[in-house]
Amino acid sequence: MRFDLAKTKIQLMKPITHILVVIFMAMTTHLLQSQDKATIKALIVDGQNNHDQWPKTTVMLKNELEKTGLFSVDVVRTAYTWKGASFLKAYTIAGMPKTKALEKPKTDPDFSPDFSKYDVVISNFGWNAAPWPKTTQEAFEHYIKNGGGLVVFHAADNSFPNWKAYNQMIGLGGWGDRNEKDGPYVYYNDAGELIRDTSPGNGGAHGPQSEYQIQVRNFEHPITKGMPKFWMHTKDELYNSLRGPAENMEILATAYSDPNNKGTGRHEPALMTLSFGKGRIFHNIMGHADYSVSCIGFITSMLRGTEWAATGKVTQKIPENFPTANNSSAIKPQ
Ligand code: ZN
Repeated sequence: MRFDLAKTKIQLMKPITHILVVIFMAMTTHLLQSQDKATIKALIVDGQNNHDQWPKTTVMLKNELEKTGLFSVDVVRTAYTWKGASFLKAYTIAGMPKTKALEKPKTDPDFSPDFSKYDVVISNFGWNAAPWPKTTQEAFEHYIKNGGGLVVFHAADNSFPNWKAYNQMIGLGGWGDRNEKDGPYVYYNDAGELIRDTSPGNGGAHGPQSEYQIQVRNFEHPITKGMPKFWMHTKDELYNSLRGPAENMEILATAYSDPNNKGTGRHEPALMTLSFGKGRIFHNIMGHADYSVSCIGFITSMLRGTEWAATGKVTQKIPENFPTANNSSAIKPQ
């Protein structure tokens, strides 16, 4: 009898356990699915940039991306860093392996992020960054060609002048001995015509830092849709005379480079999108320092540009406190 009773208990337990397991599995699947929907996997790469504040701007971007609830953000840094030593101490990233600050940029032979784990890569490398190892360059080209996303901002378009595929991805670049051999100057004239100018000359210049107005040129693109035609950017460098292959490139917004501020008198590309194979690239010339990265126009562009590069869509709204034609708007200093 005792044996039979135990058997009955086990038989009764079975359906209950089964039901509990099914409920648990359903809940876990639901949780995982909603997490999948909410999370775009982004990777910031950095480590060598002539802009001393780069460790800070990396942290600022990471924070802003994560605040949306749409992105999870990892940072992979070269083992050798260049510039930004004091900011590295103040703006640390949990779990970051130890790095070594050098007087001159040097290739980190072990820099090989697993790009395939991410939907989008954001570059915060800058002028004079040492080339990535050849195998990493090839892995990155493969990743973008097959549908990966890339976001470059400010001095990231100074990097890697001799890496052909990188220059195709960013479309336009500056400094690093870039000149007519690298491609045309591309800009809008006052008549609103898009000019591709192949005349000789160096690529990359800027006047003194100032606030400047961004003019949206494409209101249909998901990144700029809903932005006002003009919006005032906080203090920054306005890059001019960038040049590059500029293929498969669309200019979303420009900024007038004022001759009274050592500018060109041209409407210089400020926000661009490009394609490279199946990959999507967003290029933003802004972001020189923390006060530039604090601009709500800059942040909105970066958040939308990163989402678009990752997914081809933008679900984020233009915030209420977006800058207007004459007034810049910034988040609180961090
Ligand atoms: Zn700069």
